[in-house]
Amino acid sequence: MSTPPPLRSIAVFSGSNTGVNPAYVEGAQALGREIARRGLRLVYGGTDKGLMGVMADTVLAEGGEVVGFITRLLSDLGHLHPGLTRHEITENMRSRKARMSECADAFIALPGGLGTFEELFEVATLTQLGEHHKGVACLNIGDFFNPVRSLLEHAVNEGFMKTEHRDMLIFNPDPAALIDALELWQAPTVTKWIGAVSAAPLSTR
Ligand code: AMP
Repeated sequence: MSTPPPLRSIAVFSGSNTGVNPAYVEGAQALGREIARRGLRLVYGGTDKGLMGVMADTVLAEGGEVVGFITRLLSDLGHLHPGLTRHEITENMRSRKARMSECADAFIALPGGLGTFEELFEVATLTQLGEHHKGVACLNIGDFFNPVRSLLEHAVNEGFMKTEHRDMLIFNPDPAALIDALELWQAPTVTKWIGAVSAAPLSTR
């Protein structure tokens, strides 16, 4: 079956800096309020830095639950948020990403840099391959993710990606609309390979 799990936990990937536009901080706060309002658990990278810290602070201030997954190196550097509901220290980034992915029912990316892009594309790749059936969304604050949309369009036009896999990613600037879309999301049922015919995701065959 390609039905995604019901939404209880959302992993959010975001910048460990705040960016130059104050709209990024405001957007992270708005997402944090919406996650807390819906009683969803926030899963994230466990730091008090940048947009990650802003969002965790907001969910905690609204009485929500926040679970942080941080590497030993970053924790030893003093980057662990001191007020989390719960945290886990992992040996490295790979095991940290695996734990975040296991503990989340869906994923949201906020604006960020290399770390954020890497996490976003990894979870989307796992959805594309059918290793998990979890929705992936980008909070498109100030059109930050428009270049990512253009890149995906380019990959489709050049024959490296199916339109279904481009369209499975949700882009919206409004946190409530974004989470509503994740609630309704269904996994694509086509294979990753162009020219291959399938009506079922890879993991069911
Ligand atoms: P970036 O978008 O390059 O700022 O990287 C953000 C992503 O990388 C986060 O989602 C984290 O997984 C990881 N990361 C970078 N810096 C930190 C930090 N100080 N504490 C925890 N995670 C971090």
